[in-house]
Amino acid sequence: MTSTSGRLTIRFAAISGVLLAVFGAGLYTLVRQDLERRLDRDLAVVSALFQERFLVEMQGRSTLAPDDVDDLDRLLQTAGAEAEVRGPDGSRLYRSRGFDEAASGVRRVEARLSAAPGQELRVRVSLSDAAVEGPLRQLRTYVAFFTPVGLVLASIVGYVFSRSTLSPVEELRRHAERITRAHLSERVPLPPGGELRDLACTFNEMLDRIEQGVEDLRHMAADAAHELRTPLANLRAEVESAIQEGRTPEERRRALASVGEEVGRMSQIVSDLYTLAQLDSRRHVLERRPVELRPLLEEARETWEPLARERGIEMRLEGGDASVQGDVSALSRIFMNLVENAVKYNRDGGRIRLSIERRNGSARVDVADTGPGIPAEHLPKLFRRFYRADPARSRETGGTGLGLALVKSYVEALSGTIAVRSSAQEGTTFTLEFPISGAGGPGSAVDGRPG
Ligand code: ADP
Repeated sequence: MTSTSGRLTIRFAAISGVLLAVFGAGLYTLVRQDLERRLDRDLAVVSALFQERFLVEMQGRSTLAPDDVDDLDRLLQTAGAEAEVRGPDGSRLYRSRGFDEAASGVRRVEARLSAAPGQELRVRVSLSDAAVEGPLRQLRTYVAFFTPVGLVLASIVGYVFSRSTLSPVEELRRHAERITRAHLSERVPLPPGGELRDLACTFNEMLDRIEQGVEDLRHMAADAAHELRTPLANLRAEVESAIQEGRTPEERRRALASVGEEVGRMSQIVSDLYTLAQLDSRRHVLERRPVELRPLLEEARETWEPLARERGIEMRLEGGDASVQGDVSALSRIFMNLVENAVKYNRDGGRIRLSIERRNGSARVDVADTGPGIPAEHLPKLFRRFYRADPARSRETGGTGLGLALVKSYVEALSGTIAVRSSAQEGTTFTLEFPISGAGGPGSAVDGRPG
């Protein structure tokens, strides 16, 4: 039997067998000791009675009269005992009919009896041990019969018990078997309580995550096709118009420039998707070396400063510095994306605050803008691939909808976290946290500010 219920039944039966055997042996020993004690007590009583009567019958004589012998025989017969008495010289004074000094299956007791001063008699009394062996034989028969019966019963109880205990597991297995790619929304039923319920809950939560992952992949494939369809259609239109007869060189140059733009956009999408896929499969190995965050934030600010200035947006970098174990190009890409979004989605004349802070063993970076904010219903999906809270604005500014997805993947690959909070009044703030390696060692934090 290889099933768990089979193994449990065998174990249950084995344990029951050992218990029954121990119980049987214990009971047998106790009963035997008790019966032997009783037999010894009876023998002692019979021996004492016999000696007393023998002395009375002898009455100082050297031999017994036939009547006296009969008396003694009767006494022994009533008690089921045999006896023999020998004088000091070894001569036999009395011997019951059934007395046999070499007989087996009897219990014997020997005593010295003083018949007269200087006359010491040797008395031997024996009692059959049938009073012990009879009940013991019966007990052995009972044990031999009830042990296998008990074992069979224990096996049946063990089997029923293990089946009923494991039936929710079997139920769970049958349901789990039905959950395929096509039926990913099915869930296993929850048993009434206990550890199996916890197991089923964990299993269902795992299915939620897998379903979400598969759903994301399906959406992403559809979204990727959709994203590439538009630039490809534009490309085709531009190429067709460029090859039409009668186009001036200037018109052809403009068409080719537009083709170049669309190709650039498409290669950006493809390259971002490739990076995301690499990060997903952990094939994109990021470096882990001490990286100062402030220079990277300054670089991002400088890159987007001209666009911010054009729209009257003021950009400030606050706080000190912190050094984390990370990958320069990944961290740079993260800050570039977030600062670009803060500029792109800000209102004209708005503000952007970038700050670095050390907190409880981690480096915290805030990228806060005073834009119109992101409606609350969009926040949970904001980091999904191709997700745009404001599609028109995103496309107008050349966004692909992959920026935040990439940021999140990079942050997680660096063991960091990212969170967003947003309101129409205060704008949007992205908060990143990265663990700082041990103080004093390479990559430890260096904070410009006291404390
Ligand atoms: P995109 O290429 O469209 O900018 P992202 O992944 O960077 O893609 O951002 C996804 C969406 O999140 C954007 O389309 C935009 O609607 C929203 N978003 C991102 N950053 C901000 C921000 N700072 N303020 C308001 N909306 C933002």
